[in-house]
Amino acid sequence: MADRDVFEEFQQAANTAATLTQRLADLREDFTAVMEQNAELKIENEHLRDRLQELTEPDGTPKQPATKGGLSKSKQNLEKIYNEGYHVCSFQYGSRRLNGEPCAFCSAVIYADADNERSNK
Ligand SMILES: [Zn+2]
Repeated sequence: MADRDVFEEFQQAANTAATLTQRLADLREDFTAVMEQNAELKIENEHLRDRLQELTEPDGTPKQPATKGGLSKSKQNLEKIYNEGYHVCSFQYGSRRLNGEPCAFCSAVIYADADNERSNK
């Protein structure tokens, strides 16, 4: 084998080694990125599982939408208006409750079927 052939072969092998080294570095970077993403997804998955558990009954059926004291969102709004001193019943809707007088009709509108909504499930 001529000296020139040996040198060329050496040069080629050196190039191949350099290419491989670069490729390994790239792969390590990709691997690290995948591992990071994997860790993030694991954490996100855990959070989603916790959230799902909060939203479902032990038997797997969905819970009623998150409510305060068993009231739906719209009932909560009515309760808020009522607590601000206004009627929400159909008789005097929107008028002020004088001296914060309680109104049985308003209570019925706000709370009447909160229990039904719960017991229907
Ligand atoms: Zn009222």
